[in-house]
Amino acid sequence: MHQIDKIYINGEFVTPRGSALFDLYNPATGMVNGQVRLANRDDAQKAIAAAKAAFPAFSQSTKETRLALLWRLYDAVVARADDITAAVVEEYGGPVSMMPQWTKMAAQNFLDMAEALGSYDFTQKIRASDVVMTPIGVVGVIIPWNSNVGFITSRLATAIAAGCCTVIKPSEMSALQTQILCESLHVAGLPKGVLNVVTGTGIEVGAEIARNPDVAKISFTGSTAVGKDILRASADTMKRVTLELGGKSPTIILDDADLDAAVPLVLTAGFLNSGQACIAGTRVLVTREKHDELAQKLIAAMNDIVVAEPTDPASRIGPMVSRKQYERVQGYIIKGIEEGADLLAGGPGHPEGLGGYFVRPTLFGNVDNAMTIARDEIFGPVLCLIPYEDEEQAITIANDTDYGLAAYVMSSDPARAGRVAERIDAGRVCINGFQHEPQAPFGGFKQSGIGRQYGVHGLESHLEPKVIMGR
Ligand code: NAD
Repeated sequence: MHQIDKIYINGEFVTPRGSALFDLYNPATGMVNGQVRLANRDDAQKAIAAAKAAFPAFSQSTKETRLALLWRLYDAVVARADDITAAVVEEYGGPVSMMPQWTKMAAQNFLDMAEALGSYDFTQKIRASDVVMTPIGVVGVIIPWNSNVGFITSRLATAIAAGCCTVIKPSEMSALQTQILCESLHVAGLPKGVLNVVTGTGIEVGAEIARNPDVAKISFTGSTAVGKDILRASADTMKRVTLELGGKSPTIILDDADLDAAVPLVLTAGFLNSGQACIAGTRVLVTREKHDELAQKLIAAMNDIVVAEPTDPASRIGPMVSRKQYERVQGYIIKGIEEGADLLAGGPGHPEGLGGYFVRPTLFGNVDNAMTIARDEIFGPVLCLIPYEDEEQAITIANDTDYGLAAYVMSSDPARAGRVAERIDAGRVCINGFQHEPQAPFGGFKQSGIGRQYGVHGLESHLEPKVIMGR
């Protein structure tokens, strides 16, 4: 049983003033696995005060100092990578075959941001004027559970590069991995107050961060519904806000695409992180003519996907993170059946021989884009096959969503796929693959968010341009 009763404020592990306890569950079994003592509003205020006190000195630190810090943080996470991965597998249920790579990517965030910082010029010239890019202040970071370690490192790396101090609120469901990650970051020798981590609930700690006047910017990652609350709460103090929200991304299979090549992409994009991914390609658009052929190929390939205990090296899909997520996904599967979509694979209930929060990877066919399962973000391994008549209609359906985070296009003609990609309202479009460019801006159109993370775009979202004329 894990007992987590420390938060990280001003360079020290301290006991929260909050006394509420939260049970941690092993999602593979549904059994209680530990307890976390939650931070409260007072703790959040204390953390914000520490970050505020550290800001004047840290904002004046040199680029070289901050580069050296980013490199040390990378080394520190790498040194504890195995412990971090083990905690993620146990607490989150991520398959052990994949989580080491996620931890590696989390560490890599420090090097990627160092690369962006290394070539960044904080004083730019516009004719005779200097545009001085100035650190914004205390950054409140609120993140979800679905990639906790990666979000902490990427948001911290960006803030450090900009010369900002942070107060980070992870999900209470990620307390164990957060604790181990914090221990590793502490060893890197962060200046006191640059990193503060307060694990607590959204309504207590998150809401305090969103309303506190000493927080200059919020970097929020989570659901669109809570993102709207954050935006409202931030309005009174005019905080700068970056929102990385939900998605309902299309995977468009154009009529000239090789279906055999499309199948692995559809399943990788659709079932990424056991379906608990904001960029999951959950609406698969295929010509009506080829709908049944693609369906048969997907059903066959889904039979080979191993859904198993996250500690089993063969496992590719693990459980949902919580009972709440399990029930949410079950609810949508039942809704899809009720609304008349064809259930082609999976369905309600647990996969055979598994309990806990495991769900059956599910494929619906002949889905109408107006159905609930095609409109709502399910955040589980549930795919919708949506037939279309022609390219024009495919683009219309792809864009007929409140979201606009990611999209995938498959075609044997990359130039044609590129033309289609340009007409999709999404922050990132991948052609014939599942690519990732860490220096490229990441974020959403429409209700998938505001602003961009990563690379120079992320860095600049933590800076205020100040124009100095006449010097
Ligand atoms: P959530 O919105 O419920 O919670 C996110 C965070 O906000 C948590 O730390 C939570 O405690 C906190 N929170 C909740 N209510 C709050 C409030 N009133 N004030 C302040 N903070 C509050 O999201 P979740 O269920 O934890 O995560 C899943 C969602 O995150 C999905 O919608 C997914 O698409 C989204 N997501 C987006 C991205 C992206 O980069 N666009 C990445 C990962 C996840």
